[in-house]
Amino acid sequence: MQPAYILFDLDETLYPASSGLMKEVGRRMTEYVSGFLKVDPEKALSLRRELTRKYGTTLKGLLVEYDLGTAEEYLEYCHPTDVNKYLSRDPELAQVLTALAVPKSILTNSPLEHAERVLVYLRVRNCFEHIFDVRFNNLSGKPDPEIYLKTLSTLKRDPEEVLFIDDRLAYLLPFQSMRGQVLLVSANGREEAQSHRVPVIGDIKELPDFLDRMAAAE
Ligand SMILES: [Mg+2]
Repeated sequence: MQPAYILFDLDETLYPASSGLMKEVGRRMTEYVSGFLKVDPEKALSLRRELTRKYGTTLKGLLVEYDLGTAEEYLEYCHPTDVNKYLSRDPELAQVLTALAVPKSILTNSPLEHAERVLVYLRVRNCFEHIFDVRFNNLSGKPDPEIYLKTLSTLKRDPEEVLFIDDRLAYLLPFQSMRGQVLLVSANGREEAQSHRVPVIGDIKELPDFLDRMAAAE
């Protein structure tokens, strides 16, 4: 079925991982955890990996296991305001997204202000109706199944009619389990995705071709 709605992840889906922006966010997260729990950076990094594995995100792990009372401070600390230092503008991205007649929104684990900064810099803010961010999701995030349900109910859409696009397979699988349509954007990880019957494109600008192939196969 051709999607009637498309949900896009933000980071490393609308721009390439090679930008280094999320590497910087990750570095800051480790730095924050190191200061908050008073452990060295190596220990902080291994704790973050453990929390992400168990709870989906570092933030949720800190809230559940360490009673973090400074979530807002954490979000501000971890997300650089100078996104232009990392990202490069690609005029083709705006062309591709604008040409897609299907309504679109963002579903991200980042805070709204980070999403706004990235979308404005990439000149695609107007392409999206809503930004469903970490606060909309009560500081939880993908891959928690609840947040997909909350997003769908806000959009008044059934999962079957929505295509969700992300650069992480683990974030796509819960949506796929709800019978939603999914697409991985990744330069690698193709084999693992295919073993879960998740289609893959190497770059978001290949989306129109992917949709054309879907339509042709119907
Ligand atoms: Mg991402």
